[in-house]
Order: sequence, then C-alpha cells, then structure tokens
Amino acid sequence: MENSCRLCNSDNIVLLRHGVRDNSKIDVFKCKNCGLEFLSQTFQADKDFYSKGRMHSTYNVENWFKSTYADDFRRAEFLKNVLKNKNVLDFGTGNGGFLIQAGKYANNICGCDLDESLDEHYKKYDLNVKHNLSELGNISFDVITMFHVLEHIDNPELILEKLKEFLNYSGQLIIEVPNSEDALLTLYKSKAFEKFTYWSCHLYAYNCDNIKILLKKSGYKVKNIKFIQRYPYTNHVGWMKDKTGGGHKKYTCNKAINYVYEKFLQCAKKTDTILVTAVPI
Ligand SMILES: [Zn+2]
Repeated sequence: MENSCRLCNSDNIVLLRHGVRDNSKIDVFKCKNCGLEFLSQTFQADKDFYSKGRMHSTYNVENWFKSTYADDFRRAEFLKNVLKNKNVLDFGTGNGGFLIQAGKYANNICGCDLDESLDEHYKKYDLNVKHNLSELGNISFDVITMFHVLEHIDNPELILEKLKEFLNYSGQLIIEVPNSEDALLTLYKSKAFEKFTYWSCHLYAYNCDNIKILLKKSGYKVKNIKFIQRYPYTNHVGWMKDKTGGGHKKYTCNKAINYVYEKFLQCAKKTDTILVTAVPI
C-alpha cells in the first residue's frame, strides 16, 4: 500500500483498482486531495523497454507512423502560430510524425527520444532526433512539446526542471496527456474501458487541476488548458454497447452530432485529452 501522494504528499489516498491491462500485480491508487492517479511502485519497469523499442515491438513502424498522422497533423495545425519561425524540440518524439508536420512551420525542429531502434526510420525521413538531452549541447528552444509522454515518466518533476534549462525565458512548454476525468471513466463508468486504459506504461494519470500543481512545482506557470476529444462519440457508443474500442470504425459518425458532443465534453472537462501550455517562471 502506498502511503502518500507523490505530487501533493497528502496521505489521503485510496486504492482505485487491482491490476492493469498487462500486469495483474500492479495496483492503481488515487489521491483524494489532488486527484492524481498513480501506479504502485512495486513494479519496476525494464530499463531498456523504451530504448530498445519494446513499446511498439508488436507492430510495424511504418503502420504506426501512418496511424498517428491524424494526431500529428491536428497538433501541428493547432499550434502553427506558436511554431512559426521558432526553434522547436519535441521531447519523446516517438515515430517523429510531429517533426514532419511541425517542420512546415518551425524554423528548426528536432526530437529527443530514448528509442534507438528507430534510428533507421529517423534516417529514412531525414529527422534530427537525439536519444538524450545531453546530446543537444548548448542550445535553447522557443517551444518544447511533449505529446503523450509525461504520463510515462517516473520522476516528472525532474524531467520538467531539466527541460526548463533548454527553454528560452519567453519560451513555451506544450504538453498533451490523457485526461483522467475522461467521460468513459467518470460519466459512463465503463468497466471495460477502465480495464483497458490502465496500463503499466502510464505511471500517472493527470487532470486539469493536478497537472497545474506539477508544473508549478517544476518551475512553470500554466497559461492555458485546452480540452480535446480525440475520439468521436461513436467510440463511446462502442465502449458502452460492445464493451470494446473501435466503435469509431464500426459506427457511422454524424459530424454535427459529434461537434455538439465534443462541446459538451469540453464544458464538462471530461474530454479524453488535455493540452496544456505553460511558461517558465
Ligand atoms: Zn495528491
């Protein structure tokens, strides 16, 4: 049993569930004070897991690259005014799809990722990706992005402080993470989705309030939080009706209904994703 919250140190924590989708021995805890959800520390991640590409070892890199195109495109289009003529670092760049999309607007863009198994892929698409922040040298950036990376990091405060050293005084840190207040969990209370979403790689689940606490502790001030719904309402229909994902492929989505549905989720702060803009203080 964990004794206290790793973010706010409150001892008001509860056991949320036994087991995650790929490991029945890992427990999930929730802080009743700040709402942070976190995995039990008894689980020790394989230190080579990310550097040897084991997170994506079961699927083809090219297919993975194609599958993230819509997200990479959405992110670059939404951020194009922020990225325009700027020096950008994408931390935890994965297959590098964002580097290609954002490269249309940025002055310079490079990535950082532990994954050495993607070196051939990076070479093929002429992407500048380092495996460690120390390889970047004496350089600073106007924008640093992290898309679905923060929740994988065991000591987020340490990494965020380190990234701050690479950020200009007037620079911006952009973080996208899954929202722990996702409607499937908090509104529909889908047991099937709950069983699916908790995963040994996601060490923490943040919401719009506790991510502010983390950023403040790490030397940043949050400027803006945008609520984004990546999956359409048909995905929710699938989870509720069939108790599985993929509803957005199975059921026909009405764009007008989806537009209104997303607005509703945004107002309720129950979208599946949050996008945070923070500045160094
Ligand atoms: Zn807490």
